[in-house]
Amino acid sequence: MAKRDYYEVLGVAKDATNDEIKKAYRKLSKKYHPDINKEEGAEAKFKELAEAYEVLSDADKKAAYDQYGHASTDPNFGGGGFGGGGFGGFSGGFEDIFESFFGGGGGRGRNPNAPRQGSDLQYRIHLKFEEAIFGKKETIKYKREEECHTCHGSGAKPGTSPKTCSKCHGSGSVGVERNTAFGRVMTQAVCDVCGGTGKEITDKCTTCYGRGHVEADHSVAVTIPAGVEDGQQMRLNGQGEVGSNGGPYGDLYVVFQVEPSDIFDREGTEIYYTLPISFVQAALGDEIEVPTVHGKVKLKVPAGTQTGTNFRLKGKGAPKLRGTGNGDQHVKVTVVTPKNLNEKQREAIRAFAAVGGDTVVEDESNFFEKVKDAFNFDGSKKKK
Ligand SMILES: [Zn+2]
Ligand SMILES: [Zn+2]
Repeated sequence: MAKRDYYEVLGVAKDATNDEIKKAYRKLSKKYHPDINKEEGAEAKFKELAEAYEVLSDADKKAAYDQYGHASTDPNFGGGGFGGGGFGGFSGGFEDIFESFFGGGGGRGRNPNAPRQGSDLQYRIHLKFEEAIFGKKETIKYKREEECHTCHGSGAKPGTSPKTCSKCHGSGSVGVERNTAFGRVMTQAVCDVCGGTGKEITDKCTTCYGRGHVEADHSVAVTIPAGVEDGQQMRLNGQGEVGSNGGPYGDLYVVFQVEPSDIFDREGTEIYYTLPISFVQAALGDEIEVPTVHGKVKLKVPAGTQTGTNFRLKGKGAPKLRGTGNGDQHVKVTVVTPKNLNEKQREAIRAFAAVGGDTVVEDESNFFEKVKDAFNFDGSKKKK
């Protein structure tokens, strides 16, 4: 809202003396005093006069105003330099201000006394890889705005109650004339006396200083379902911040941050594991213990398994968040070529090559038994 120049408001020249300013104020304030003048807009004029006089009658404020204009009188943004309130005491956020200005679609604007739901909050829960798979119960603690227990949200001292705002008569907004490209129009603006609440509190509650709500420690027991994934969230109704005018609490969004595993990869319900096996195991086949999130499982690796082969362990994946049962664990085999062979091992491999093992071997079973002995393989090789 564009404010009128204070000198213009009082109808005096820029170089007016203190006496001239005082006289002008007395004359005009009598004319527009709400007790005398019952015309529409008189009260607003009266306030405007008082504001202008407050600044221009004070040498310091006048000097600041002469230099910086209206900005010099604004302690907060939005300009509540006079009469208290302004947007500073208005807790509804941008949308409410917007609605108030534009009348919420042409009507008288939203009712400031209508119940409104409180704000939503977000809480991040860190989960270990397995915790996300099996779920967990956890009590989380955080701070939120809760209804003041002293005044039960009214903001007024016990025994007293808020009065209907004398300026806006409880509507929370006042009509303001504005100059626009289409001429002078009446628009709705947030009431500067009550800050849009429609209420004035004379005796403020000493616990919440009239706000009606206080910051408090809050805890909630959260049951994290089995099978959640990194980045997923869960809504807990009513665990957010207190509403206004008896409106419901907001909600709490619990966001899961799942730690990766050193062993497994996971995509949804599917778990992936890479199993290193020796070339002996690959060639002869073996039964190998494989870790899964559900415990160790024996996997039969058939003779002649190639590196990169995938096996599926049915039902050894993560639980389905919706529905029943688990996904699978996928085991990808990597054949490890041995390094740092000792003399006995080298001899065995040379012998293997001598019988044609470096190309295609038809009847190698007896030969591989020797290789197996040379490597003293015990069948328990596993990662980590
Ligand atoms: Zn209170
Ligand atoms: Zn008001």
